[in-house]
Amino acid sequence: MWSYSQIETLKPLFILVKILYIVVLKSILVFEMHELGIAQQIFDTVLDAVQREKVIRIYSININIGELMAVDAESLQFGFSILIEGTPLAGAVLAIRTVPIKALCNDCGAESVIEHYNLLCSRCKSRNVTVIDGKDLTISSIEVDTNGSHNA
Ligand SMILES: [Zn+2]
Repeated sequence: MWSYSQIETLKPLFILVKILYIVVLKSILVFEMHELGIAQQIFDTVLDAVQREKVIRIYSININIGELMAVDAESLQFGFSILIEGTPLAGAVLAIRTVPIKALCNDCGAESVIEHYNLLCSRCKSRNVTVIDGKDLTISSIEVDTNGSHNA
């Protein structure tokens, strides 16, 4: 049997664990928000597009994501898989291609591929650069089966 004093020392530990749990849960939610918002936008765009055509099945949605968007591909795919359940998009695969960041130097005119988000000209080391690629998300193609196809 525990004495009263032993129970008292256990109490603060328990509270600490509880707080940690809430903090972790919150940070996961914040982290997922960005990807979930993007997944929702892709979903809305694709649904709108396929409803205009006579699409009976969607196989895959091919997207290009600029590295500057800092999207976690796994989180995005996870969010998307939840959104499409029970919708006309169910079963569709989200194929993600990452587009590297490219910048044009405003001082020497050179084009550089940016690594580790370090916006710097690779030729003259100037920071006076303009991002010209790798900042957008685009749906490049949607592979579908339409009503007019030969498939039964
Ligand atoms: Zn330069």
